[in-house]
Amino acid sequence: MQRMQRVAGAVVGSAVGDALGGPFEFGPEGAFSARFPAPGTGGEMGGGGGWDPGEATDDTQMAVLVAESLLERGGLDLPDVFARFQRWAASDPKDIGLQTEAVLTNGMPWDLAAAVHFQTTRRAAGNGSLMRAATSAVHFASAGREATMDAARRIAALTHGDRAAWEGTAVFHELIRVTLEDADPLDALPDILALVHPDHRECYATVLAPDWHPERATEPNGAVWPCLGSAVWALRTTTGFEDALRAAIDLGGDTDTVAAVTGGLAGAYYGLDAIPARWTRPLHVPLPGFGGRVLRLPDLLHLAHRLADRTGPDASAP
Ligand SMILES: [Mg+2]
Repeated sequence: MQRMQRVAGAVVGSAVGDALGGPFEFGPEGAFSARFPAPGTGGEMGGGGGWDPGEATDDTQMAVLVAESLLERGGLDLPDVFARFQRWAASDPKDIGLQTEAVLTNGMPWDLAAAVHFQTTRRAAGNGSLMRAATSAVHFASAGREATMDAARRIAALTHGDRAAWEGTAVFHELIRVTLEDADPLDALPDILALVHPDHRECYATVLAPDWHPERATEPNGAVWPCLGSAVWALRTTTGFEDALRAAIDLGGDTDTVAAVTGGLAGAYYGLDAIPARWTRPLHVPLPGFGGRVLRLPDLLHLAHRLADRTGPDASAP
């Protein structure tokens, strides 16, 4: 498969998962299958819960903000990413993570806001940095394993002071990198776990083990470990993009984010052409705070192409 099929699959797949899962957020297990019993029949991108059909939520909105910063700044400019996040958070997005909102509005500078929040609350291992990582993952993939994991940690740390969130996001970046190289991401897991910070390796080894099931999670899937574990489980236990997303959303809970992470992995794995057109057609990503712009499939594809083109001035490692 062409690398660009996988790159576009990751970016669009994540957005599709987000939009598909949004209406089921905080719902019970099995709600997606109850509403849409048979795969492939259509109507799934139906909106609900305050979301229009095909409308992507904060997960994809933040992923686009990261992407546009990387492209416009010619590489990783952390203060610029943080400023874009703040501008977006101040523009009343329909949804924003509790932790992300607290960090972006606490008045502290970019390099202290998340750390101060974590010191105060001791709770900062949400999935909010993992959910937005598809764009940065495809951008940094060609910089190599060390560089892409390092970039993931730095971008995660803008809003999440708990290293658990950095490590989970770094694992996701590396999973995408190996998939873009035509390797099997599930086979790569032991090697990737060896690169996780020792303080967090055991937690990730547990949720990424072949016999782990989301029912064994000790936290809700709004936390970073079960969210990543559930996405990998959905990829492992299904045989196609559509079924992977159905499995992810059927877990209930933080369905948009679990499906966004699953969609990023499954999109890279199966490629853009495996994503049903009936899901990409209504897909759209509003960008509150950025002139009322709304990105659609052609815009996301253009973004994906530019992110993966590392022949430009941003070709160096972060
Ligand atoms: Mg969301």
